[in-house]
Amino acid sequence: MPLSADCRALIDALSMPVFVVHGDGSLEWLNRRARQLLAGSAPQSIKNLLASPSQSDAFLRVMRRNQSFSHLALHLRAPLQDSYIASTRIAREGEFLDCWLLELLPRQLVVGGMHQLSQMIQRTTVLKRERAVAEKTAQLALTQASRDSLTGIANRRAFDECLAAALVKADQQQDWLSVMIVDLDYFKAINDTHGHDLGDQVLKRVARLLTGAITRRGDQVARIGGEEFGVLLPGADVHASLKVAWRLVMTLRQYNAGCPAGDSWHPVTLSVGVATRCPDQSISGRDLMRQADRGLYLAKERGRDQAVHAVPSAQTDPPLADTR
Ligand code: GH3
Ligand code: MG
Ligand code: MG
Repeated sequence: MPLSADCRALIDALSMPVFVVHGDGSLEWLNRRARQLLAGSAPQSIKNLLASPSQSDAFLRVMRRNQSFSHLALHLRAPLQDSYIASTRIAREGEFLDCWLLELLPRQLVVGGMHQLSQMIQRTTVLKRERAVAEKTAQLALTQASRDSLTGIANRRAFDECLAAALVKADQQQDWLSVMIVDLDYFKAINDTHGHDLGDQVLKRVARLLTGAITRRGDQVARIGGEEFGVLLPGADVHASLKVAWRLVMTLRQYNAGCPAGDSWHPVTLSVGVATRCPDQSISGRDLMRQADRGLYLAKERGRDQAVHAVPSAQTDPPLADTR
């Protein structure tokens, strides 16, 4: 049954390509945008338009079964409940384009009127737009709420969330997990002697150096306090985490050697406390951080500019490869 002129006019006015199809995939009609897209070479079947044969078969199968199909379809409301509008993706000259496929069964053309179709199309368009805006806003809020405003890296809140998630994952996968607390040595003296502004510059630079030295995917660096940074190392055991901790200490030592005091830098060293959760151990994030803090306390007590693992029996000397 052909579409009414009113119906065509409405669908023609839409800015996205719409292909009106029959259940077998043959094309009933294309709107203006879809005709532009195909530039006059309209195929007879939607199967020739879809990105892959398997996709087109799956699409048509679900359409015929009359069920909603997850993210691909939007189920119409009564009295058009037996029809579907589906967003899908077609390949055209190497490019992928999002479009709509609309299957209108003859019954719906009779019982469903122009008004319902118009409402449905408007509603789905508005919903899509609203969802996109909401997602963008949420993303922005999340990045703003989880960033430290001075250094631009993750903040304490983001770190706590990541730690909680990493503990759950480590538990599920029976894996190691290490945390570190990195604290700048005698930082107050830099502020007191050279001013807060230089102190801020030093903090920013240290944040960059730390993130530059923590490169493994899944590892996280955050500013968790004034001159304190937290590092999350999923999968890292005692030896591996201590190796990373010493790498951070060495990074600062080397940077100090190559970059003398100036307008935006003053040499500073790091002390690092490390703690590790064993695969079968049950420990809260708070307790793990408390252990790392104990390691940090020992590092300070032993003269600063070093890394100490909180486990009493653990090897605390620097792995040779990292200190040479
Ligand atoms: P230690 O080696 O024992 O850690 O000594 P410290 O001086 O680093 O430690 P302390 O806790 O005495 O001082 C930390 C200093 O960090 C004090 C505070 O003024 C400074 N600080 C905290 N947040 C900021 C910040 O955002 N900017 C600047 N410039 N300084 C900060
Ligand atoms: Mg501190
Ligand atoms: Mg300090």
